[in-house]
Amino acid sequence: MGLATTAVFAVLLIALPLLALLGSGLSALRQTADQAGAERALGIVRLETQIYEQTLAETRTLLTAMAALPQLRPGADSRTCNALLGDLLEARPGLANLGVVNTDGTLRCSALPFRSGLDVSHRGWFRAAMESDDLVAGDYQVGLITGVASTNLAYAVTGSDGTRNGVVFAAVSADWLTEKIQSAALPAGATAALLDSGLRLIASHPAPAAPARHGERPAWDPAFTQALGADARAGTFEARGLDGTQRVYAYVAPQASLPLAKPHWVIVGLPLAALRGPYEAIIQRQFGQLAIALGVLLVLAGGISHFDAVRPARRLARVAQRVAAGDTTARAGDPGGAREFLELAQGFDAAAQRATALLAALRLLSGGNRVLLRGDTEPALLEAMCRVAVEAGGYRSAQVVYRHGDGMQLQALAGDEGGFLRSLEMHWNDARAGETPTPGAIFGARTMVLNDTLTSAVPALNQAAVRTGMRAAIGLPLRVEGKVIGAFTIYAAQPGVFGAQEVEILEEMADDLAFGITTARLRERHLEADTRLQQLLYHDQVTGLPNRRRFLEEFAHWPAPPTGQAVLLVVYLGNYWDVAAALGPAQGDALLQAVAERLHGLRPALLARIAQAEFALLLADGDAAHPAQDVLARLNRPFPLPPIQVDLEASVGVAPIGQPAAPTPEHLLQAARLAAREARHDPARWRPADRDLEQQWTERLALAGELRAALGGPEFTLHVQPLLDLHSGTICAVEALARWQHPRRGAIPPARFIGIAESTGLIGPLTWQVLELARELGSRYAAAGLELPIAVNISAQNLHDAELIPRLRALLDGWSLPPGRLHIEITETALMADPTLSRRALQALRELGLPVYLDDFGTGYSSLAYLRELPLSGIKLDRAFIAALHEPATQRIVRAMCELADALGLTVIAEGLEDPDQLALLEKLGCHAVQGYAIARPMPGEALTDWLRGFRAPARRH
Ligand code: C2E
Ligand code: CA
Ligand code: CA
Repeated sequence: MGLATTAVFAVLLIALPLLALLGSGLSALRQTADQAGAERALGIVRLETQIYEQTLAETRTLLTAMAALPQLRPGADSRTCNALLGDLLEARPGLANLGVVNTDGTLRCSALPFRSGLDVSHRGWFRAAMESDDLVAGDYQVGLITGVASTNLAYAVTGSDGTRNGVVFAAVSADWLTEKIQSAALPAGATAALLDSGLRLIASHPAPAAPARHGERPAWDPAFTQALGADARAGTFEARGLDGTQRVYAYVAPQASLPLAKPHWVIVGLPLAALRGPYEAIIQRQFGQLAIALGVLLVLAGGISHFDAVRPARRLARVAQRVAAGDTTARAGDPGGAREFLELAQGFDAAAQRATALLAALRLLSGGNRVLLRGDTEPALLEAMCRVAVEAGGYRSAQVVYRHGDGMQLQALAGDEGGFLRSLEMHWNDARAGETPTPGAIFGARTMVLNDTLTSAVPALNQAAVRTGMRAAIGLPLRVEGKVIGAFTIYAAQPGVFGAQEVEILEEMADDLAFGITTARLRERHLEADTRLQQLLYHDQVTGLPNRRRFLEEFAHWPAPPTGQAVLLVVYLGNYWDVAAALGPAQGDALLQAVAERLHGLRPALLARIAQAEFALLLADGDAAHPAQDVLARLNRPFPLPPIQVDLEASVGVAPIGQPAAPTPEHLLQAARLAAREARHDPARWRPADRDLEQQWTERLALAGELRAALGGPEFTLHVQPLLDLHSGTICAVEALARWQHPRRGAIPPARFIGIAESTGLIGPLTWQVLELARELGSRYAAAGLELPIAVNISAQNLHDAELIPRLRALLDGWSLPPGRLHIEITETALMADPTLSRRALQALRELGLPVYLDDFGTGYSSLAYLRELPLSGIKLDRAFIAALHEPATQRIVRAMCELADALGLTVIAEGLEDPDQLALLEKLGCHAVQGYAIARPMPGEALTDWLRGFRAPARRH
């Protein structure tokens, strides 16, 4: 073989693998592109879903709050109602409308104008809301008022007398969702849609060419049904769209716990061709260049010596291997040998450089998408994006600048060690500033690329840029809601890195960032709307002070000062109504504001307007006489309300606070209010709240001390009261009732000591003792051949005590009887104090095998829907119902409660039966068991066996 032939072979042998390596590197790049595309789609759809879920959840809160607003009640002024709804709607772009419907289905008021007499009684959501106590959701439909596709969430409003007085609703727009996705400036050919559980299109962007008829499911590619049929809540897949385009789709199911009638999907699809475009172009171009260089080389190889060819070729191959292994900084330089090798190496280096630049852009794109998902505030988002550009993208520095009127304002930057970016600000007003990337992008509203800062049109900047290692720059406009609000500018250390493909990717990234800014602003607006709602619900609109509701909440959490006496004062403005009537509403408001201002002067820890003509304040120190006098001294000075002066007749009620075993804030406030009213006729014009109050507290305090000492000892015993099963006529259980025999004071009723135990933290030890006594009693009964379940009462505090479950478990370990023999009674109000926590506690009790009964049922406000979700065994109808059983209305209520309980599989026990003649009636109404003096009074535990021996079920007269 001649030297020339050998050379040709050598070139082929080394150059072909080189080509293959380069090819595989580029195909890895293409895979990255696909993956970045899928990630981007998922990022957008997740962000979108977050906002969507947030909108739904906030709508729920909004509706619950709306149901409590007096301005929306029947009989309220309809213009005020419309205006208030308009206000609430304004800050919520996800909602198409808000409204209130009368019980007959006619619209009472709405944020959007409507035809008077509009009737929605045929809509499913309205009917469902009227029948439910919970939030309901309708199907997606075209709104009668809005004309857009939306789903209505609705909630019934119940008056204080328990009857329905209307339904509040919110229309959640479906189009809004796709509009938002549209504003993410997706590449051409992208789609976004909202699908219902049957994969029918609820809304889509762009609108389908041949819209499916209502309720019809489009002919999806099988990949859709496969991906969305699986259990995953989110994912990506490749499929052909309805228009035949191959796309990568990302989907998310909005959280199932939301009160929507049916599950549904948010989907975004990006066309594969657009994702791969830049990489395919590169692959083609770079391969072309290499092929030409190789061809030339091959032709010439014949004339080149063996060593001239093989050595440089080997060197090239090594570099190619490094590149393929991921080292994108590897460069061939001048490999020596023939001139053609230099060309080959240069082609190779250019390809490697392109790959590096592209990778940087790609890393920024996907890193940026992760940042977007975090749901940061706007400033945090901008900072994070700049950091990602420097840290993940490997760029020299990055900044975000916003347009500010005619000027500009730096918002965030990263990687600016030399202070170059900051120094740029000085030039923003130069005549030629528009030719530099940031102002160029902002004011020219297009991407501005500067691939070599040395050729910049502003020479003063050149040297500074080169000195700080910024050789190339790109300014990308940020478009939010159709307007350029600023620019994202990136600087790179290498000149020429912003080629057409990089620009395309970075523009995508800038659009994503703009989308992120839009959503961050939206979140912010939601927050503002909520603050406004809080303001409405918790503040007095005239003085801006907290209202009564808020006052009580804050009071309950107020840490009373450890020393000195804190007092609660209620100020009553006795002649306010006369003054307001004479002055007119505007002056009346001004007077209240002036009163608030003077009260502020006392530096109260808390100040609130608790009623039209009443203020409440907490003062941290001083004795009880002086604060009241201070208040009066301030309010007794005339109020100048030009052109006249007004004299107010204020009176004050004072209640000391911070005492141990003090009554609840509500009680205190009530007592102080009464005192303030009574003080109107006193010469001093102030009065301590309930003269006995202090006396009572001292006694409570003493009793609490004695209770603590007595706990665990023999002063405590159990009485039991039997329960009669109406069906079998036999005793089916007993309730254990605590008894305290005080050595000096005699028998103290539980109604008295349970309350004290609850407010002094002694209820834990008390309950543990009762449980222990019940266990002993149960064993003694069992030994006597008596197999009766024993019901024990548990307080709200016990229920939320982490010790309860371990205690019960230990107790059951030493309990020789099946766990079903121990019943737990919890009052309805205790459960409702913290429904979520309570549900968990009930679940734990059920897991222990303990049947739970809801005590004093009917006195709380638990909704039927809520009851259904609780693991309960039965309810005990409160004594009040049985006492009023002669009234037909009460009978109807009892029957309804029994029917409901039956439907839920719950046992119904009637408490406090004193009249044996009512047994038959109770049975007829659907009660299962009764308890009361008519059967037996509570008796000492050991007296039960004797009593049972003599027991004969009362005859049931039908
Ligand atoms: P409760 O759980 O509703 O218990 C029933 C109360 O009604 C008992 O009062 C019982 O004597 C009374 N009662 C039963 N039948 C009749 C009747 O026909 N007419 C009338 N007027 N009353 C009847 P008691 O024993 O004074 O207990 C009062 C409350 O004290 C109980 O109400 C319960 O909430 C609480 N309590 C009693 N023992 C305990 C205990 O060990 N732990 C806890 N946490 N609370 C207890
Ligand atoms: Ca009970
Ligand atoms: Ca009860």
